[in-house]
Amino acid sequence: MSADKHVEEEKSLNFLEEIVENDLSAGKYQSIMTRFPPEPNGYLHIGHASSICLNFGLTQKFGGGTNLRFDDTNPVTEDTEYVESIKEDIKWLGFEWKHELYASDYFETLYEYAIKLINNGLAYVDDSTSEEIAQQKGTPTQPGHRNQYAGRPVEENLQLFADMRAGKYKDGEKVLRAKIDMESPNMLMRDPILYRIKHAHHHRTGDAWCIYPMYDFAHGQSDSIEHITHSICTMEFVPHREVYDWLIEKLAIFPSKQYEFARRNLSHTVTSKRKLLQLVNEKYVSGWDDPRMPTIAGYRRRGYTPESIRDFCDRIGVGKRDNMVDLGLLEFCAREHLNKIALRRMVVFDPVKVVITNYEKGSELLVAENNPEDTSTGNREISFSNELYIEREDFMENPPKKYFRLAPGQKVRLKHAYIIQCDEVVKDEAGAVMQLNCTYIPESKSGADTSGIHVKGTLHWVNAKDHIAIRINEYDRLFTVENPANEEGEFQSYINANSLTVLNGALAEPALKEALVSDRFQFLRKGYFVLDKESPKDLLVFNRTVTLKDSWAKAGK
Ligand code: ATP
Ligand code: MG
Repeated sequence: MSADKHVEEEKSLNFLEEIVENDLSAGKYQSIMTRFPPEPNGYLHIGHASSICLNFGLTQKFGGGTNLRFDDTNPVTEDTEYVESIKEDIKWLGFEWKHELYASDYFETLYEYAIKLINNGLAYVDDSTSEEIAQQKGTPTQPGHRNQYAGRPVEENLQLFADMRAGKYKDGEKVLRAKIDMESPNMLMRDPILYRIKHAHHHRTGDAWCIYPMYDFAHGQSDSIEHITHSICTMEFVPHREVYDWLIEKLAIFPSKQYEFARRNLSHTVTSKRKLLQLVNEKYVSGWDDPRMPTIAGYRRRGYTPESIRDFCDRIGVGKRDNMVDLGLLEFCAREHLNKIALRRMVVFDPVKVVITNYEKGSELLVAENNPEDTSTGNREISFSNELYIEREDFMENPPKKYFRLAPGQKVRLKHAYIIQCDEVVKDEAGAVMQLNCTYIPESKSGADTSGIHVKGTLHWVNAKDHIAIRINEYDRLFTVENPANEEGEFQSYINANSLTVLNGALAEPALKEALVSDRFQFLRKGYFVLDKESPKDLLVFNRTVTLKDSWAKAGK
């Protein structure tokens, strides 16, 4: 995928920035306020990152502030664990909210707003069942009609609504509805429900309430209370905008405005909290922060950097049409950043022994740069001896033409060290290669090579006398198809059975002993890796963030 294409797209599609700029220059607002309004019913995923970058990005660019508002009006699915994870993830992404707020803090104000509507003859208590309400609503092509409850006098509505709050009724026995227009072409305007009865414990308000406001009666009003100027949501809320504006107008409160942009979906995964929760509950993954999950917590554990996720969100930009973004672009962004910051280390995944028969020094220390892209990271010392390990796949007994790695009679360079030549192959009884006896060229030392010999292959290696064993988790895409949610049958049936390969017994240079979870590494020729946050004390476990190249693109999958 071409990176330029996405940069272009971003420029032409950033219509929200244009709106804000116009509003400010027209003097409509002195400064702007946006908000990010997650429902605390799951961990944040990559789609949310897009919304976060957009909302916080606008106020970073144009000034003003962005609130973090928990949209906690549904007591049943919400949890404080989710509240904490959401805060951690937004901070990790590098954003600071102006105020931490909860829609549930507005319950009393919202209740007063409802009373105001009732007093103005704009809301009524309806005793119909949800089936009756649905039936009376009509269809997109047929107008709906009001029932006998719509004509209740104000006094009766006030009393019934107070009784609803007081807990006099059971779930579903009554609702409060706005009195708008049963014939509107917009179904949502056909006397939408504002409050329902739900006898449920709420994670913040406890048992104080048994009536809860619906989305349409909480979201716009919360925006208004906070003086949000630009309330940005995803396209499915377009039909809600009419209700949003109607309620704000009738209540005569701060005129927040809603704007919509298209959801961003990522290929080969699912971005719906409900489906992600299923993956967790049904144990397809180890938790919300499993490195295969498209959650912010998953990407963090996988070794992605906040910079790379922000870069990704910038590149996909803001549009009006739903789109499926290829996972390859996210990986591209990770490689771009990791290449700049990752410390280079050598790790042999599947070792075969090399003995250098003419090396008589015993051992020596060689100098290796930590990151050629960032000289400020300096050098490290690595020890070399007459016994080394190289990658089994870097040797071939009968190589084809243009094979530049090690083969009998062939020379390669060992990274940061010497040129060696393979003289003899030692095998076990079954014919498997056990050891490669080689000679080295003393004048070919990296940085001081006077040998005049040129070789095409450079191999990574570790010292057989000085190394540590590590475990490696190689992650791959979680689903085998681009859009599992759209396939026939259950989305879980498209899980990639090889999304995790655990490799025990990889051998690493000892410098990795000092690794911290916050470090990023490039294992030479292998990919980018990070220490897993749950590595046991006596065994370092590294997660593969991403390979060095896009192997799926190459395989044409
Ligand atoms: P989900 O379906 O995963 O539960 P949601 O939209 O219900 O998503 P919320 O917690 O309500 O999740 O969303 C918080 C904000 O993030 C909303 O403004 C929502 O529009 C936005 N958002 C959620 N998913 C995406 C996405 N895939 N792309 C862009 N923005 C998104
Ligand atoms: Mg939601």
